[in-house]
Amino acid sequence: MPKKRKTRGSKADSAVDIFQILSESSEKAKKKRRAELLAPLGVEEFFVEGSISLDKRTCKGVECKLCIKACPTNALFWRAGEVDIIEDLCVFCGACVLSCIVDDCIRVERKRADGVIERFSTPRDFTNLQHGISRKKRCGGILDIYRHPKKYLKSGK
Ligand code: SF4
Ligand code: SF4
Repeated sequence: MPKKRKTRGSKADSAVDIFQILSESSEKAKKKRRAELLAPLGVEEFFVEGSISLDKRTCKGVECKLCIKACPTNALFWRAGEVDIIEDLCVFCGACVLSCIVDDCIRVERKRADGVIERFSTPRDFTNLQHGISRKKRCGGILDIYRHPKKYLKSGK
């Protein structure tokens, strides 16, 4: 029985290509929209990707609103008796999680340019993460001094 040959540009291949093209173009459109919204605010993007969610069942809403006050981009706002989010305005800074009075009410996931993914949903998670980042920076600085002592001495620090 003759073997079936795999032909280039088969229907299945075209479907995959079209799907990829569509998702790439919607990703580009999203990035462009974000850039347009964030530029007037002067807020820089530090993360290549991210997501945020808010559990409206546990949120203290009208008694609190601390996250709304903390958000530097106004991504969080008050609407129809509850906190709402414009995801396109969120830069995943974590200020809302840090100020939230309910653990796991706001969840943030963000990806750094080096591929590292960070997740946090409580002020404690967020502070631990920040401590970890500062520790790494400090250790990197110290290692740099040992690797390049002459450069360090010249800098006169
Ligand atoms: S993570 Fe930052 S930018 Fe996003 S909603 Fe919270 S405070 Fe606003
Ligand atoms: S800080 Fe937390 S509990 Fe308070 S309004 Fe925002 S999400 Fe709700």
